Amino acid sequence: MGRKNRRVEHAPRPNFGGNESTESHPDGEWHVRKLTGSAATKTYRCPGCDHEIRPATPHVVAWPADMPQGADERRHWHTPCWNNRGNRGPRGRT
Ligand SMILES: [Zn+2]
Repeated sequence: MGRKNRRVEHAPRPNFGGNESTESHPDGEWHVRKLTGSAATKTYRCPGCDHEIRPATPHVVAWPADMPQGADERRHWHTPCWNNRGNRGPRGRT
């Protein structure tokens, strides 16, 4: 008797150092690290909405993957702001 379904198990990809991944966006590849609330110990300013990210708020750190010194370009984003980044229309400063 043969097997009807052969299931392929996908092993979870090993993480390096945390919840880090690479995402492709219209403006290039970005390294993205998802921080938990307990890892967020400082106040940052989100470039997406220009509001503060308070300590203990789970959020996203992203930096360009094609920059050797990309780690210096890290930006902290609210998770929804990062997710909506591509949908952002032009907006003026008020
Ligand atoms: Zn934001």
